[in-house]
Amino acid sequence: MFIYEYDHEYGEDKYGMVGKPADPFQENCRLNIQCGKCHQQPMVIAERNVMDVNRDDSTQYQIVISCPYCRTSDEFFVNQGREGKISKAKRAHQRITPADVIKKDN
Ligand SMILES: [Zn+2]
Repeated sequence: MFIYEYDHEYGEDKYGMVGKPADPFQENCRLNIQCGKCHQQPMVIAERNVMDVNRDDSTQYQIVISCPYCRTSDEFFVNQGREGKISKAKRAHQRITPADVIKKDN
């Protein structure tokens, strides 16, 4: 009920919000983790979807990652239940941290 009220009031605005990047898991970033199927790395972030608003007002995101070698996709969640909590990758069962994001050179 509480979460529904929040979505209703602020949900739309948060979708288009660009300021303040709370985490480095942005689309097209490469992640220094192995594919759960072919064990190549890196994986690439294909999608970043808003899932929910947590009780602490942080936004939960589903991050879809894709293997450029075998096209297998995997997913994990950022701010899962509370700000800063990152789930394991669903298929690969790997723990993911912001340090796994490979910084772009440009
Ligand atoms: Zn693969």
